[in-house]
Amino acid sequence: MNHLDFHLHTTHSDGSCTPAEVIALAAKAGVTALAITDHDITTGVPEATAAGKDRGIEVIPGIEISSLLGGSELHILGYFLDYQDARLNERLTRLRESRHRRNPQIIVRLRAAGIDITYDEVRALAGTDAVGRPHIARVLMEKGVVASAKEAFDQWLADGRPAYVPRELPTPAEAIRWIKEAKGLAVLAHPTWVKTAEGTLADLVRLLKVDGLDGVEVHYSTHTARQTRDYLALAKQQGLLVTGGSDFHGLTKPGIEVGIGKGALHVPDSLLDKMKTAAARQ
Ligand code: AMP
Ligand code: ZN
Ligand code: FE
Ligand code: FE
Repeated sequence: MNHLDFHLHTTHSDGSCTPAEVIALAAKAGVTALAITDHDITTGVPEATAAGKDRGIEVIPGIEISSLLGGSELHILGYFLDYQDARLNERLTRLRESRHRRNPQIIVRLRAAGIDITYDEVRALAGTDAVGRPHIARVLMEKGVVASAKEAFDQWLADGRPAYVPRELPTPAEAIRWIKEAKGLAVLAHPTWVKTAEGTLADLVRLLKVDGLDGVEVHYSTHTARQTRDYLALAKQQGLLVTGGSDFHGLTKPGIEVGIGKGALHVPDSLLDKMKTAAARQ
């Protein structure tokens, strides 16, 4: 039985399930505590908390902030943060504005390639302020331009593809500081996706620790047993917290389920108390 999942997306960013739907799936999977970690937005937390109360599931306020390091994206998760903090929300609002500057440029590129799509259509489908490329991918699917979200990224939206436009992002140090200043724990998301321009992952983690990093997402849907072991050793060696989660997005990322990821994910029960102890010190 799996009991914890600290990485979940909802309709408040690019997931396809509402917070209440995510809670219902979590209840079915036997999850007893979870964190909602939408991209650049925390508006899904209250609904999840209320739904969690009804079902006896503890909901930890969370976030996932994209940052930029040496031309590559690096994601920082935040946990137990004061999601109503005014300064945090000003910063997140500005981040989402950078999405609204970037996305229309993506649309211009798609239109130049002969695809009939408008940003209004994308915003209507997204139904949130944190509009991302997965929403554009879904519109492309609905129009029959591509057969899957993966194809939308592979053909058009991924870095290096014809409709790719970068967006202004904070540095990892800034993302960590924003989370810490809102009294949260900052955790390096899915190390498997981290690209280090120079040096090893261990070198990077050491540097991020100086910036205030609290933990590493050791347990993750697509981590192999070997990666999990290596990341666990790295976290221990650096004296960092261990966390884990599925990165569930519903239909946006098919094949990943709440609590169990691709089936093998197991986030150990003991991690929650350690996170709580660390959060109480913030
Ligand atoms: P955005 O926030 O608009 O930059 O979009 C980032 C989101 O797109 C993340 O949640 C990723 O899961 C998703 N994404 C990024 N690259 C790909 C890819 N190559 N295939 C599918 N999804 C992707
Ligand atoms: Zn996402
Ligand atoms: Fe991520
Ligand atoms: Fe995520």
